[in-house]
Amino acid sequence: MNEKIDQLNRRFAGAAPSEILSWSATEYSGKITFSSSLGAEDQAITHILAMNNLDIPVFTLDTGRIFQETFDLLHVTEEKYRIRIAVYFPDASRVEKMVGQNGINLFYDSVENRKLCCQIRKIEPLKRALHGMSVWVTGLRREQSVTRKGTGLIEWDPVHRLIKVNPLLNWTHDVLWEYIRKNNIPVNELHRKGYPSIGCIPCTRAIGPGEDTRAGRWWWELSQLKECGLHPYKK
Ligand code: SF4
Repeated sequence: MNEKIDQLNRRFAGAAPSEILSWSATEYSGKITFSSSLGAEDQAITHILAMNNLDIPVFTLDTGRIFQETFDLLHVTEEKYRIRIAVYFPDASRVEKMVGQNGINLFYDSVENRKLCCQIRKIEPLKRALHGMSVWVTGLRREQSVTRKGTGLIEWDPVHRLIKVNPLLNWTHDVLWEYIRKNNIPVNELHRKGYPSIGCIPCTRAIGPGEDTRAGRWWWELSQLKECGLHPYKK
């Protein structure tokens, strides 16, 4: 598998995201899916999929704690591109048990509690969404944070045991936003209010000038720990 992935990375080095996605959609038809958090990167990918009629179904996770602005964007995106985005929810009984034992805002008490909440509200629904898939498309960009420096354009995900395709990996912040502006792609209203990275309400804040783009996520934790487990930390 590693040899095949190395070959693909060489083949697609410098390729446009649409080329990578087009090849992936054909090669892995019926076994490929795209997880969108409705972030700017993911909106760009949804646009590329829709404009090129690529058969890669889109899903998102509703943790139960996300912003109204994110729901509004979900609706606008479905309308604009005439698509349906599958929404995965956490298991209600597991959420009830967790909150009953640890409180509604348990994530502020410890990293362990925060990871438990992410596990139940994000990771478990993600696993269901990825079940039976061979390829997972994501909107990861290399420059997003220290935890994403080692990410590959195409890579094996040993946790979820599938191939991960990150077509925007080499896009810079400026390239991404130029593409969004040029193509009139709908984005979350919160980006204009200082939220470059948007997750759950209690775990996201606006950032100030000069701060890392992911500084507003779980801001009370050390930067090396700031992943929810969807894309495990790589050195
Ligand atoms: S980001 Fe916060 S609220 Fe959302 S699942 Fe993780 S810990 Fe829970």
